[in-house]
Amino acid sequence: MQSDSSGFSDFAHPPQASHMQPVHSPRLPVSYAESRASFLAMATKLGASVTSYPHRPVSGGYRDPALSTDCALFGTANASSLFIIASGTHGIEAYAGAACQLHWMEGFQTSPRDSDLAWLLVHAVNPWGYLHDRRVTQEGVDLNRNFVDFPIAPAPGASPYARYHDLLVSDFQPLPKGSLNEARLLAHGLTAERRRALQAAITAGQYEREDGLFFGGFAPTSSRRVWEEIVRDNAMHRRCAFLLDLHTGLGGYGEGELISYLPPDVPDFKRMSAWFNGDLRSMAGGESVSAAVNGTLTAAFDRMIPAQSYAVGLEFGTVPALKALYALRFDQWCHNNAATLPAALRDAAKRKMRAAFAPADRQWLEHVLARFDEVTARIEGGLRSELRGGAMQR
Ligand SMILES: [Zn+2]
Repeated sequence: MQSDSSGFSDFAHPPQASHMQPVHSPRLPVSYAESRASFLAMATKLGASVTSYPHRPVSGGYRDPALSTDCALFGTANASSLFIIASGTHGIEAYAGAACQLHWMEGFQTSPRDSDLAWLLVHAVNPWGYLHDRRVTQEGVDLNRNFVDFPIAPAPGASPYARYHDLLVSDFQPLPKGSLNEARLLAHGLTAERRRALQAAITAGQYEREDGLFFGGFAPTSSRRVWEEIVRDNAMHRRCAFLLDLHTGLGGYGEGELISYLPPDVPDFKRMSAWFNGDLRSMAGGESVSAAVNGTLTAAFDRMIPAQSYAVGLEFGTVPALKALYALRFDQWCHNNAATLPAALRDAAKRKMRAAFAPADRQWLEHVLARFDEVTARIEGGLRSELRGGAMQR
């Protein structure tokens, strides 16, 4: 997997963010329900146009409360440009994503208004995963691999992932019981090059094993359908739309890597890269903490928007990659064996997931929010330059 760099980015000279706030005791939401209530209350208080998109429950065996992806539109409905900030594409990663959105709203009243630029905050694209502290949707699908054209009919066992499925999930046992299996897995990643190849094979997205990791699904998920409805309702009529999709779990602790699915030599990548002073990584170009993956929200966004669009992920690093992978495997193994495992083991898996994707560390969150401010300021700067002439006049 990627290098286990730790330590923080240099935040000594961030640009002036329009919403930059002094960070007062920031904290992560404690649950999906609390996060949702805070989001709706603050958006309503600020006069945003709030719309809730309900999700139909599809999973058997769960007695879930009403699940919804909630949207808050700031600015005029007809603004030329729209800046979308989305959280919780990967369920559990919404703790940090929603904290960024709440932080953004805290700074909203002091930010400059712009009649030609609107903002759309999308809370919990995958609310089921957020509710259950899982990365996947209620269908057991990695939503960020689900935006492909179905049906996909891979030859059984043909995906690179299939080679590793037993090691990753079927033969998994929590440590210390599973130490021999862990040693076998580690043997596949003894060098940085082999770790990189392993990461690419495992995380690219697979459409074969629904009991496996990074499963892209057999059909569009409920979250995909809701997301597409949100984009249709809000973004299709704009002259320019930008999607910032917030993630956690890959990269150095507290760092926030900007990731594009585009190859680095295409004009849109170069234009965005200039906005970020070159601080944009291409997963297609092999320079990102993320391997190249299929079916992402960002690529689908660009396909959907008829006018000028941009879409990047912002990935905040947490624990070393193998530790995050261990949490995902533990979680998947518990899910696959739910009928026979004691509740204490399932709780242990949940704690691992929280530690890997939503660290309870104020200093980490302060760095996340500072990086978020820096990135959003640069995006707004880029969008305003487009409005003044740039790409939309071509
Ligand atoms: Zn993610």
